[in-house]
Amino acid sequence: MVGVDLGGTKILAGIVDTNGTILGKKRVPTPVGADPDQVLDVIIDCATELLRVCRVKEEEIRGIAVATPGPLSFPEGVVRDSPNLGWERVNFKEELIRRTGRPVIVEKDTNMAALGEYYFGRQRGCGDLLYITVSTGIGGGIICAGKLYRGHLGGAGEVGHMVVEAGGAACNCGRRGCLEALASGSAITRRLDEMVKQGQGQGILNCTTAGEQPGPRELGIAARQGDEEARLLLTQVAEYLGIGIANLVNILNPRAVILGGGMMLGLKDLLLAPVQNYVYEHVFNLNREDLIIECTSLDDDIVLYGCVAAVLKLLGQGTCPSVPLGERSRG
Ligand SMILES: [Zn+2]
Repeated sequence: MVGVDLGGTKILAGIVDTNGTILGKKRVPTPVGADPDQVLDVIIDCATELLRVCRVKEEEIRGIAVATPGPLSFPEGVVRDSPNLGWERVNFKEELIRRTGRPVIVEKDTNMAALGEYYFGRQRGCGDLLYITVSTGIGGGIICAGKLYRGHLGGAGEVGHMVVEAGGAACNCGRRGCLEALASGSAITRRLDEMVKQGQGQGILNCTTAGEQPGPRELGIAARQGDEEARLLLTQVAEYLGIGIANLVNILNPRAVILGGGMMLGLKDLLLAPVQNYVYEHVFNLNREDLIIECTSLDDDIVLYGCVAAVLKLLGQGTCPSVPLGERSRG
């Protein structure tokens, strides 16, 4: 099957077999300001080249799954007002079926990641699972009683727009105090920019390549060197994440909260423990019992793994394994 992780800045395509083994993958930049047709061209070129390299025949492809940045209506697969792609209303699924003649599933990227974790992650088979990505933005996917919870129109899981500070920093969504506006990669970059303009953050600037803007990576380097301002900012970020996750844990009572995304994985050594501590201290006792909070083991490929899970479900082979699919098929 072909899996495609379509992001605002990059497209990651992979050819994956039904056991979840990635046979080949390729990463290309998303064409800037491209219309949906151009993006489809890039995806199809990418997949065609991968098929050639992996020596897989086109007719062997059983399905195609594409993960897009939200919001996305389900099951139509219509991308709606996507700030990351700059598209207003695009029926991506229909167009891809028309062009390829294959079964196609289009799903919001964070939902796809939650499926990936549920099928292939360390907590696979965990029926009440919450996946949260902390990267440039913050998003989530909810597995509820073994099913992906999409809500009425497909808009569930927008955890980045939970208000965690009344009247707080302005968010891209037009409101204030959203988790994404306070604890995402872009929020950190914005905060560091403000600090530098006020003559603060010298220790973080010292960790930044000349001419570049400090972001989460530089903040992490400075904090590991013991820089006080960096440590303080990270403490605040961890607390906002903790508030958001504690709210979600009290609402959903998941067994596992899985954290992923470039920023979270890059700052795991600095963020995971304080986030865990905050949540464990601030949720109801009942909801803390058995609660696992950890980072994904699937790294950058989590969405690709989700694509495999989505195609298997589409083909009616979608019962979630309690052991990896590969082992199950051998058994
Ligand atoms: Zn928001």
